[in-house]
This record gives sequence, structure tokens and C-alpha cells, in this order.
Amino acid sequence: MVQKSITKDVLNQVMERYGCSEEDAIRACLEAENSYEEALDSMLGEDSGTKAKEAPLSHTPMEIKTYLDKFVIGQETYKKRLAIAAAYHFATVKAKHDNLEAIRDFNVKRFRKKNTLIAGPSGSGKTYCVEVLADLLGVPVNIVDATDYTEAGYVGKSADDMVRELIAMAPGDSKSEKADFINRYGGLIFVDEVDKKAKDGSHAGADVSREGFQRAVLKLIERKAVSIDDPNSPASQIQGLVDQQRGISGKKKDTMLGTENILFVLGGSFQRAHDSMEAIVKKRMDSKSGKLKEDGSLNISGFASPSNDSRHKEFRNYYKDAIDDDYIRFGLIPELVGRTPIRTYVNALSKNDLVRIMTNTEDSILNQYKMEFTLFNIDIDFASDAIEKVAEKAEAKKTGARALVSEWESILTDFQFQLPGHKVSAFTVTKKICEHPQDELLKILEKSPVFDFADRFRQEHGVQLRFTDESVGYIENYAKKNGMQVSDALGKLMAGAPALNYMNHKGEFVVEPKALKDEKYFDNLYVEWHKKQIKDQPLK
Ligand code: ADP
Repeated sequence: MVQKSITKDVLNQVMERYGCSEEDAIRACLEAENSYEEALDSMLGEDSGTKAKEAPLSHTPMEIKTYLDKFVIGQETYKKRLAIAAAYHFATVKAKHDNLEAIRDFNVKRFRKKNTLIAGPSGSGKTYCVEVLADLLGVPVNIVDATDYTEAGYVGKSADDMVRELIAMAPGDSKSEKADFINRYGGLIFVDEVDKKAKDGSHAGADVSREGFQRAVLKLIERKAVSIDDPNSPASQIQGLVDQQRGISGKKKDTMLGTENILFVLGGSFQRAHDSMEAIVKKRMDSKSGKLKEDGSLNISGFASPSNDSRHKEFRNYYKDAIDDDYIRFGLIPELVGRTPIRTYVNALSKNDLVRIMTNTEDSILNQYKMEFTLFNIDIDFASDAIEKVAEKAEAKKTGARALVSEWESILTDFQFQLPGHKVSAFTVTKKICEHPQDELLKILEKSPVFDFADRFRQEHGVQLRFTDESVGYIENYAKKNGMQVSDALGKLMAGAPALNYMNHKGEFVVEPKALKDEKYFDNLYVEWHKKQIKDQPLK
């Protein structure tokens, strides 16, 4: 092992400048020393730049689309556009690097990238498609959220960091080896929520900073040399000090990566509180068809058939018809729109799509639950009416396929908690389970909902409840009348009962129907108890 030494002088300088402990300063200096050596190796070492890792395989657009089809339901146009963009981009990068004769003859000087702009409702597969694509491509793919970045010079990560993070994802033993991989084979950056960086005229300061971000991304999209080391990182700054101490004058030459081989996909739902892409497109189209005047007021036409029209338009996807002007009107800068020549869209997912997502995809969430329960020796299955029911509930939430996970989690949480270790070795999730999960689970566990409630109440609030027979009858009736599960009815009717804990109630509490019928019963008990406390307090 090579011994490294740091002089006390350097340590003192570091501690003073960063106000850190000696221990932290030593650690940072050693790290800086390592990257210093790494940089020397990559610039001067024998095998510098020649250690490319295994070349990623090339794919035809059809191969990419077929792969996406296994995981992503619907969204045909997007999958096709993305497959074309990726297949042609990475084939060209590789051919250019290998200086293939086949493309040299064409003498194409300016390589116009197939940067893509994807718009459509949340949770419908915009990001997911890129995630799936990343598994196939074998090149680094960095999926970022625009809201995590700022333009350079502001607090937060700068747009250049997207490229540095991409470099970190590439194969290779050093940063320069990783950068070399991207130089040879390319990479992809997906900037999600780019619409959150659109100017919306709400606040001048915010608009300037959003535009600044867009311009920073524009530079990356066009062509920019990005330093593979973050010039502002403590490690880089400490390295400067180490260099100084070693008597190395002048700034070390940064290793740079050009962004021309990076394909950019910008995505967003293009929806905000006061307007949306759909509204912008609709307004433009309506004004063209003579329904709206230029000032936005309505032009009554005697010929349109409104009933047919509106029925037809309910399912119309306006993102599909968005043109450059609409994106600019939404708040993207024209240059950025111009540099993302491939426009595409996704559709809102229907109940039917959601069913297909659960049943027809390779990494379906249902398969995941099956796998998880198998780990505890339980076989679970899902009845088709249960799948339909969940799809229906998820569709109503209007958050796309994301709602599927939360729906299933809220149904299965207690099953996941209670069943492992229990004698049950198989069960089928039915529609009834989806509607009344708690009651159905208790049936499987052969427990009564009332006892279960009392048990949990004792554990949480330290008071043992005993329900009279009349009370149990009342609760069951109430649940039936209101189409609720008994467990939920208990939760509702006994919402005030935790007051018993605050009243320092000791021993058993008998729940009679009057406690269930009067919403304020426990509140009133508490008020009475409190009054008594005050009265009983000895006068000072
Ligand atoms: P967004 O469109 O907002 O980027 P995502 O692509 O992140 O949404 O979708 C959220 C999740 O929903 C994904 O991780 C995936 O599991 C699921 N999903 C969304 N759309 C589809 C689809 N068309 N096919 C299969 N799964 C999907």
C-alpha cells in the first residue's frame, strides 16, 4: 500500500478555509490526492484512453420497439419515435467514432440529433419508457428531474451536473475512462418535468431563472464541452490548494466531454394550475375553426352540431396536435423548441389500459406481489374482478398508472403484515377483498372485527374495550346500511374513544349503544372528567 503524507501547512489551510475538523480535512485531502493521481494517469499514463469497456450492442428501431412493447402498454407513437431516435442516434455515434467508410462518403458535417420532446398526462409512461429503454441500450442513461437543477451560479445543481452524473454512470475505472466511453458510444439524458421550467409570466424573477435553466439545457443540447470534474466541488478546490503547495502553478487543464454524442429527451405533463398545453392547443384550434375570435371570445356559428362535437372531443388528445407555437406559448424558449425536432405525446391511460398494465406486462405489479408472498411460502392469486375493480379506482384518481401501486398497497398492507408466519398458505384476492380488505382478512384469520378492534385499541391506547351484544348488533347494522366494512364502521363510530386514554381510564370500558349513536359521547365524557379534575383540585 502506498503511504501518502499531507503537510500540516496544507491541513491548516484546509481547516481554516472550510472550517472543518482535522479528521475531515485529512479525508478530503487524501481524496483530492487520489483524483489528482487519477487525472495524471489518464492524461499521461500508458494506456490512457484506450481502455474502452465492452461496446454496447446496436439495435434496430423495430428491436427497440419490440422490447418496449413487453413492458409499456399503449403509447405506440411515443415508443416508435423513441425507438427511432435511439436506434439512429447510437448507430451514428458509433459509426462516426469508428470513422466508418459507409458514412464518411456522405460528408455530413453537422450531425442533427434526434432530440425529443414528449408531452402527456402524468403517470402514463413518459419516464417509464426511457427506463425500459435504458435496460436495453447498454449506454448510460441519466433520468433527471428539471426541478432539481438551476442555471450555473445559483444554489443547487447546475445543468452541467446532469452530464457529470451521466459520466459517473458509464463503465470505466476512472472519470476519464468513463467519459471516453460516452465519447465512443454516446449517452442519453431524460429531463423530466421540463414544463416546470417554462416561463408562466407569474413572477419576473422566477421567469428569469426558469429561462436561465432552459438556456443552460439548450447549450448542452447543442454542443458544450463540460468539465468532467465539478469545478466547485470541495475536492476540486482542495486539489487546487494541494497543487499550490506542491508548487504546481497555473490551473490544471480540465478534462472535458463534448455533449454532441448525448441524446436529449425532454418530458413533461405541460399542465399547471392556470392553463395547460391541452387548453392552449384547443384554443388555437377552436379559433382557427372560427369558434373563437382572436381575443378569445366566442363566435356563435349556426352550423356546428355541439352535441356530437363534445362527445367526440371528450377522448381527444390535444397533446397530439401541439405545434412549436403552443410549446412557446406555454413558456418554452423558441430556441429550445427548435432544438428538439422530434415531438411526441402519450395518451391518458384508460381503465382498460390499466388492466393490461397489470396483466400483460413483464414486470407487472401483480407478479411482484406474487413473488413477495412466495418468499413467505404463501401463494396468492388475483381474480379478474379484483383487477377490474382496482383499475376502476385507479382510473378515477387521474394519476395514471401510479395510482395502481397505492391502490394495491392500501388493500394489501394488512395482508402483508399479518399473513407471513400464519397458517394460511394460499389465497385469492377477490373483488370482495378489494372492497372490504380488513373484514376479509379477519375472516381468513378467523378473528371477529370487533375483537380485533378492541385488541388494537388496547395496544394503542392502553384501555380494554368490551362491546355489549346490542352494540355489536348496532355496528353490524350500521356497516350494512352504509355499505362499509365492519372494521371501518368501528373506526368511524369509535373515532372519539381515544379520549379514554387522555382521561387516564383504568380497567375495562363497556361500550354501550349510546356511545356509538352519539358522535359527541366521548368528547362529553372528557369534558365532564376535565371539569371534575378542576373541581377536585385543592385550592392553593
Ligand atoms: P410519467 O408519464 O409521469 O413520466 P411514469 O412513466 O413515471 O409517468 O409512470 C409511472 C409508473 O406507472 C411507471 O413506473 C410504470 O410502472 C407505470 N406505467 C405508466 N404508464 C405505463 C404504461 N403505458 N405501461 C406500463 N406501465 C406504465
